Amino acid sequence: MAIKLDGKSLSESTEQELSERVLKIKNQKGFVPILATILVGSDPASGTYVKMKGNACERIGMKSLKVELDENTTTDELLIKIDELNSNPEVHGILLQHPVPGQINERQCFDAIDTRKDVDGVTSLGFGKMAMGEPAFGSCTPQGIMRLLKEYDIEISGKHAVVVGRSPILGKPMAMMLLNKHATVTICHSRTKNLKEHVLKADIVVGAVGIPKFIQSDWVKDGAVVIDAGFHPEKCGDIDLEPLIDRCYAYTPVPGGVGPMTINTLILQTVEACELS
Ligand code: NAP
Repeated sequence: MAIKLDGKSLSESTEQELSERVLKIKNQKGFVPILATILVGSDPASGTYVKMKGNACERIGMKSLKVELDENTTTDELLIKIDELNSNPEVHGILLQHPVPGQINERQCFDAIDTRKDVDGVTSLGFGKMAMGEPAFGSCTPQGIMRLLKEYDIEISGKHAVVVGRSPILGKPMAMMLLNKHATVTICHSRTKNLKEHVLKADIVVGAVGIPKFIQSDWVKDGAVVIDAGFHPEKCGDIDLEPLIDRCYAYTPVPGGVGPMTINTLILQTVEACELS
């Protein structure tokens, strides 16, 4: 029977522990951690994600400060807002919801976030530090996956990990985190040739592609650890998981695997940022 890497249950138990840490901060310092969320424009999906993040803050007794900016906001205007939040001692974490409207230089704005407040792990400096094994907040989805692997004692050292996807927030940091835990890592992307042959070598496969059921079950060898970061409206991920459940070693369900770990890691890192401040 394969192990279900249950992100829902791990995130719920972590929330209990985080509530206690927030209470301790409140009693000792007289304030609670604050996560500032910046939403630019009116994309409904982004609005929902920001709302879910605010709700998670409330559940553990911390606060969120919602900053909503107009669709036509310029890079300079957004940079001024980020600067204000960087200088605000009451704010411990800053989340700039991705994606921002096309006229904004998203990388420049991410990189303007003070690394001490970069609880979503999006800055280039934070990525570089993480890659070098220096203390830094990791990008939340791959960091959440690493927490899940640790929770279930999944062996990484010496294993062959194949990450399909190389985005700055997911595939790339995922590959670095696995490498730092001594996996041998292959990163695949849209120009990779013979993708199936690469995936077939994986002891650990991570689907981070953004296409429903893109990674087919016969690309995955018996006994592999199957991590699916994707989530699509048809309630499936990037991997055709169903036929694999009987023959893999462990898997993340969709929903209830990687998804809950992302927001949970964001609030965990905000509490840590507050404790470090
Ligand atoms: P993204 O920025 O669109 O990146 C997708 C990656 O997949 C790119 O590196 C792309 O390669 C690669 N790719 C696309 N088509 C491919 C193909 N035919 N063969 C091989 N590789 C291909 O997406 P993302 O933001 O990383 O997200 C990936 C998935 O994770 C999505 O399903 C998203 O919903 C999910 N996600 C979930 C969470 C969560 O909280 N659970 C958070 C973030 C993302 P190129 O670089 O060559 O274009």
